[in-house]
Amino acid sequence: NLHGKTALVTGSTSGIGLGIAERLAAAGARVLLNGFGDPAAALAAVGQHGGKVAHHPADLANPDEIAKLFTYAEREFAGVDILVNNAGIQHVAPTESFPVERWDAIIATNLSAVFHTTRLALPGMRQRGWGRIINIASVHGLVGSAQKAAYVAAKHGVLGLTKVVALETAREPITCNAICPGWVLTPLVQQQIDARAAAAGSSEQARHDLLAEKQPSLEFVTPEQLGELTLFLCSDAAVQVRGAAWNVDGGWLAQ
Ligand code: NAD
Repeated sequence: NLHGKTALVTGSTSGIGLGIAERLAAAGARVLLNGFGDPAAALAAVGQHGGKVAHHPADLANPDEIAKLFTYAEREFAGVDILVNNAGIQHVAPTESFPVERWDAIIATNLSAVFHTTRLALPGMRQRGWGRIINIASVHGLVGSAQKAAYVAAKHGVLGLTKVVALETAREPITCNAICPGWVLTPLVQQQIDARAAAAGSSEQARHDLLAEKQPSLEFVTPEQLGELTLFLCSDAAVQVRGAAWNVDGGWLAQ
């Protein structure tokens, strides 16, 4: 039961972030959404659970905007108790031709943003004596895949940061953990399916090939499943889960 708690879910206007935001709202949390695009549908989906919900459009690649997001959270929600670092982007290209601008954007959004939100959230969590930091990393925090230099480097970095923050909060009722999903069918992955569709012959075939390459279950992980795990990590039962990298990947990492 998360009544009285405020959750900030970064990148929650679509995909995994939205699924997690909905689950936390259903459990009674107030939710601050963030992300690009029109937030109306996300606000409606999260708002139907009856608790307070708002959206802030901060660009997580920009530390000044992250500071503004936290000023807003302090003013409108009296701070952040549950921080879900979920905003992320992808670019697929060989290392020698990887666009430098994409490298910088991915490191800023997928890695540096997690440092900035964490350093800004911790003082309030300590003051209120409770906190949960949940980083949506990836199986690519633990293994590599060709053509994903920036993403794999950033996600490995997120797991390192998760461990450090878990150690620094080890004697407090604040935990920091990472969730490492395999393939989840969201706009981020649909782009990769679309890019493969021509070569595969059809979108259906491209989707099958994508799963068959890495994910033995041949089924996508869902945002709802990740929402349930996030909720568990927020529970009292999970208080000794600290610094973990919890894969939810249809068997990807068992190979
Ligand atoms: P998505 O594209 O559906 O959603 C990404 C969200 O982040 C959107 O709300 C978008 O507006 C927001 N966003 C992007 N850049 C931002 C920025 N600079 N500032 C603020 N918001 C920004 O993607 P998704 O698949 O739901 O991915 C969410 C997270 O899960 C990412 O960190 C991704 O790396 C991770 N992940 C996804 C998969 C997968 O298979 N989809 C697997 C493992 C990990």
